[in-house]
Amino acid sequence: MIIAVDGPTASGKGTIARRLAEHFGVPHLDTGLLYRAVGRQVAINGGNPDDPADALAACDFPDELMQDDVLRAEETGGLASRVSVHPAVREALFKRQRAFAEQPGGAVLDGRDIGTVIAPDADVKLFITASVQERARRRWLEMVDKKMDHEEEIPLAEIEKDIVARDARDINRKDAPLKAAADALVIDTTAFDREQAFETVLEAVQEALAAR
Ligand code: C5P
Repeated sequence: MIIAVDGPTASGKGTIARRLAEHFGVPHLDTGLLYRAVGRQVAINGGNPDDPADALAACDFPDELMQDDVLRAEETGGLASRVSVHPAVREALFKRQRAFAEQPGGAVLDGRDIGTVIAPDADVKLFITASVQERARRRWLEMVDKKMDHEEEIPLAEIEKDIVARDARDINRKDAPLKAAADALVIDTTAFDREQAFETVLEAVQEALAAR
């Protein structure tokens, strides 16, 4: 059983995907981390994330990088969204994602193009979204929560601006743009807390699986 979970940044898709995987007892892959690792590796290499050759060279990142907390930083998310526009980068990461999806017993993958490109054959496709304001608020709260002593607090308006820019890049890129698959269940979590969002999604997934 493959469950594809797509959606824009800070929509809550990651938490939902992780909890669905726990619920069904299958492994979960946050595919955004792969693009984040490439973005981070470009920075380590002193390369330019907008240059296709520099970005492709960074796809050789060491496995340990996937565990590095720096991947979760806002700045790394920005780099990830820049390297992810290059078709060669998407191709280099395709096999790894496809192999994860195909493992016996199934898997949950979350990202931007899981239902459309990586696993168009998924048993259930979800597209999780929320308003820009709500996503910025959630990201801001998360950052305030994690803030280290030496870090400056980033204003909410700046986070909102960053989210709008990232959405635009993800939606408008030519290759594998962020969009709901035609047969995806679109769930807007703007008005829900985490628990309500998960319950709504789980119910929708169970219904979809029962109707197969
Ligand atoms: O989901 P996350 O915010 O970690 O993803 C970081 C960036 O990686 C996204 O903004 C997007 O540009 C890119 N990405 C992608 N395809 C995926 C997952 C992430 O293009 N399947």
